[in-house]
Amino acid sequence: MQIIKSLHRCLTLGLCAAFVAGAAAQGVAEGAQASTKLPNVVILATGGTIAGTGATSTTTVGYTAAKVGVERLIEAVPELKKVANVRGEQVFQVASENMTNDLWLKLGRRVNELLAQGDVDGIVITHGTDTLEETAYFLDLVVKSSKPVVLVGAMRPSTAISADGPVNLYNAATLAASKAAVGKGVLVALNDQISAGRDVTKMNTSTADTFRTPDLGFLGYMQDNRAHFYRAPTRKHTLETEFDLAKIDSLPRVDIVYGYANASRVPVDALVGAGAKGIIHAGVGDGSVHKDVMPGLTDARKKGVIIVRSARVGSGIIARNGEANDDELDFVVSDTLNPQKARILLMLALTRTSGTKDIQRMFSTY
Ligand code: ASP
Repeated sequence: MQIIKSLHRCLTLGLCAAFVAGAAAQGVAEGAQASTKLPNVVILATGGTIAGTGATSTTTVGYTAAKVGVERLIEAVPELKKVANVRGEQVFQVASENMTNDLWLKLGRRVNELLAQGDVDGIVITHGTDTLEETAYFLDLVVKSSKPVVLVGAMRPSTAISADGPVNLYNAATLAASKAAVGKGVLVALNDQISAGRDVTKMNTSTADTFRTPDLGFLGYMQDNRAHFYRAPTRKHTLETEFDLAKIDSLPRVDIVYGYANASRVPVDALVGAGAKGIIHAGVGDGSVHKDVMPGLTDARKKGVIIVRSARVGSGIIARNGEANDDELDFVVSDTLNPQKARILLMLALTRTSGTKDIQRMFSTY
């Protein structure tokens, strides 16, 4: 009976491939109960394409994100019961392009509450892929536990032919349940790969292999129902950071200004006028700033706004005192952080200090 119900669910969700494979392996959903031997993993759902629905099975773009609730996501992958005792919570339900600082604070607090419980061994967060890398880095900096936290999404909606959500969710739960993931910081699991939350970025608008870590590479594979790690993050994270959500009510305004030919200071002045406490400059090349933008940044700095030079190129270290005299200008450089991740670190840094030396130390540490 249970199998018939599950089959019906998979038909309505378009997740039949995962269902058939799982049911064939054994009578998966039948009589499954919480096992005391399996780790306890909480799945926190936040929306995105993994919870998206399209008009037809061939709708892989132009669908609606954030439609399917966490219980249905879990029910659609009965194999989860073989790797962990899973339970779900819907923290919020958004397309991740609509992510906000306040939602991050809410999610971070819930993750810390759960991980402080003795009966929670790991957390999976289902998330839209557009800002997944940002949420991953935010959590990497504020989660106070060495237990695994794994972000997962999908590039195809749940109703699509060859939806990637079910296998990604299965792999993420397997990773979150594994001892190998303990102490590795916040991880991202998609497309059979394990990546570091700090370093991974979305690089293709629509293909399933969109999450990549340019130059540095991903950390390992999800294969044969287990995690295979070949590298580990070296930057400080989670328990080793100085950021404490218990002391943060809100995050300060930090914005990003993009560099390009013929740029002007107009966006910088507008953001300073809007009350930005920090500006990330997504410069060209090694974080270079257009000569017509530079006076805007130096004036902003004189008003107390923290300026971080990052780059739009997608990989590499910004050389301090390279393309600009950062010591003289009292600017900060973003190390290897891309602009959207530099924004997160600067917001958190500003909750502790407005000293540029200290902020530069943080960019060299996390
Ligand atoms: N726009 C969607 C989101 O980020 C895309 C996705 O999840 O893949 O919520």
